[in-house]
Amino acid sequence: MTLTGNMLIGQHAIAGCREAIRAINPATNNALEPAYHGGTGEQVEQACALAWSAFDSYRETSLAARAEFLEAIANEIEKLGDELIDRAVAETGLPHPRILAERGRTCQQLRTFARTVRSGEWLDVRVDTPQPQRQPLPRADLRQRQIPLGPVAVFGASNFPLAFSVAGGDTASALAAGCPVIVKAHSAHPGTSELVGGALARAVRHCGLPEGVFSLLFGSGREVGIALVNDSRIKAVGFTGSQSGGIALCKAAQSRREPIPVYAEMSSINPVYLFPAALQSRCETMAQGFVTSLTQGAGQFCTNPGLVIAIQGPDLARFISIASDLLQRSPAQTMLTPGIFNAFESSVATLTGHAQLAATGLAAEGPNQCQAHLFTTQARDFLTDHRLQTEVFGAASLVVQCASADEMREVTEHLEGQLTATLHLDDNDIGHAQALMPALERKAGRLLVNGWPTGVEVCDAMVHGGPFPATSDSRSTSVGTAAILRFLRPVCYQDFPDSLLPSPLRHDNPLALRRLLDGQREA
Ligand code: NAP
Repeated sequence: MTLTGNMLIGQHAIAGCREAIRAINPATNNALEPAYHGGTGEQVEQACALAWSAFDSYRETSLAARAEFLEAIANEIEKLGDELIDRAVAETGLPHPRILAERGRTCQQLRTFARTVRSGEWLDVRVDTPQPQRQPLPRADLRQRQIPLGPVAVFGASNFPLAFSVAGGDTASALAAGCPVIVKAHSAHPGTSELVGGALARAVRHCGLPEGVFSLLFGSGREVGIALVNDSRIKAVGFTGSQSGGIALCKAAQSRREPIPVYAEMSSINPVYLFPAALQSRCETMAQGFVTSLTQGAGQFCTNPGLVIAIQGPDLARFISIASDLLQRSPAQTMLTPGIFNAFESSVATLTGHAQLAATGLAAEGPNQCQAHLFTTQARDFLTDHRLQTEVFGAASLVVQCASADEMREVTEHLEGQLTATLHLDDNDIGHAQALMPALERKAGRLLVNGWPTGVEVCDAMVHGGPFPATSDSRSTSVGTAAILRFLRPVCYQDFPDSLLPSPLRHDNPLALRRLLDGQREA
């Protein structure tokens, strides 16, 4: 397929006429063709009108039809073959094997949501049968199901051009819930977005769905993105990116006449705790695991281990020394965009002024090369200097040296909300870790033992979320099948005749759902 630079408004490929965006190959700093012109207010309006007109019909598609649609999207993405992989590599500088793996993850994610849709569990059907003889008042027939919120605006992330972008987790979970989706493509990978958008539009057509189920817009976040969020037909927003971008979208959504939920995944430094017995018994293995996790993908992961917390002493000094040695041998890697590289350099310069530099990775010629950095600081300084817990997006981490277990608790209480917190412990550390658990549960969405936070499984039990600023809504996850719950709301039907009830709520339970019937879950 030849890239056109066109947006997709339903099934129509339409050129924007606002400012042109060209992807930059971060490995060379060369601009890539074609130009993607931003959409106008009128084009945003057209996409929203189409999405709204598709909503009532799409939300009542059968579970089987909706699951087949999600599977068709995965099939169409796979059919794009090497063209998709090559373009994503050129637009992001990410290595070929990483992009191949990410395509696999994206398609598996769509198929996992297809399985979720088929199960119908997410409809969470609850039935309270009537009690006409109840005294002093009879009870009505009450039936509840979940319905989708309405059209969703999705803002993809720069660091996962497939798995968190046009057909990524936000889109898959919104479509699974029954919501039409309008994607504001990330300006760093417009060609990848056009290819995946085309695959999605073909799946819409092949499945005979209304065209407004999916649209793809290009343009600046401040213009097209905000216009989208302001449109009254948009009923929720999914976002992954910077804290400033997420907060801007939350403010826009809250300032509407009808405020809407924004599920923004923003920033996290993912503390890793090294407890004394573990530090003593396997310092070297932990240092190796840490440096691998820190430098993977040039550290451009929301779950990158940006903070290490431990009690100072010879074991911690050994950990820092081994990690420093390893880091000094780790090669520089190309970052996603010149903007992200500049932000990394400036964050590292700030840290250099406020913490002690322990080691840097290898430098490299060429543009946008991320040189890994390891810093250390004392807990006292960490507790008084808020800059030390600002996310550095890239391969940089800070070791916080605590004087005692009490100080470790104090540091924990001082942390902002996180996506993850990791505990490295041996049996003799359990009591120590136990004392931190209440604070850790308050701070983070996922707690790990003896692992590394990078690598987020797409499954039923995953939580990729956490209190602000990790996300704008700590009650939700953006990865895993529970992500569908963000785009649903309950409706109760009281004393409805069977013929007027939606099929999941009918008396004979035609979808064979496991309902909560008079307080008992059906087998
Ligand atoms: P970003 O700048 O927040 O951009 C993400 C999306 O939001 C883009 O589509 C962007 O539009 C839009 N946007 C940004 N600011 C906006 C605003 N004020 N109003 C409306 N829309 C706005 O994120 P990024 O370019 O992917 O990465 C930059 C930084 O985000 C990184 O340095 C890192 O700190 C953070 N980040 C975090 C994660 C995470 O998972 N937590 C992932 C990636 C990045 P444009 O097309 O106009 O840019």
